[in-house]
Formats: sequence, C-alpha cells, structure tokens
Amino acid sequence: MDRHEHKQGVKYDNEQDRRNGYLEAQRRHAYKPWVCNLCSIKILKGNKTNHLKSNKHRNNISQNGDHDK
Ligand SMILES: [Zn+2]
Repeated sequence: MDRHEHKQGVKYDNEQDRRNGYLEAQRRHAYKPWVCNLCSIKILKGNKTNHLKSNKHRNNISQNGDHDK
C-alpha cells in the first residue's frame, strides 16, 4: 500500500517535469530566429504567426507570391 502511494507520487512528479521540459523546449523554440524570405526580414519564431497575418507580409504575398501564374 505504502509502496503504491509512493509510486503514484513519483509518477506525478515525472509528469510535472515532462510538462515543464515541454514548455521550456517550446520557449526555446520561440526564441529561435526565423527568416521570412518574402519580406527579407529576420524575426523570432514566436512572432512568425503574427507576422504571417500582418499587412506587410500580405502585401508582399500579393506582390511577390504569385509564382503559380
Ligand atoms: Zn513576411
């Protein structure tokens, strides 16, 4: 019984650690630089989604992104 309880406690800690490690990895990933070839600018990966939605990027898509025509 005691052993089982102890095991559950350890398991919980491991899940916490795994979660923290995952969040830490995500944070590190977000601080990596990312280059938008279309706009020729270097930004952080964490800002990539915002940049792709920005007017500046959309303008560059409509000006330079019509390679399939
Ligand atoms: Zn862009």
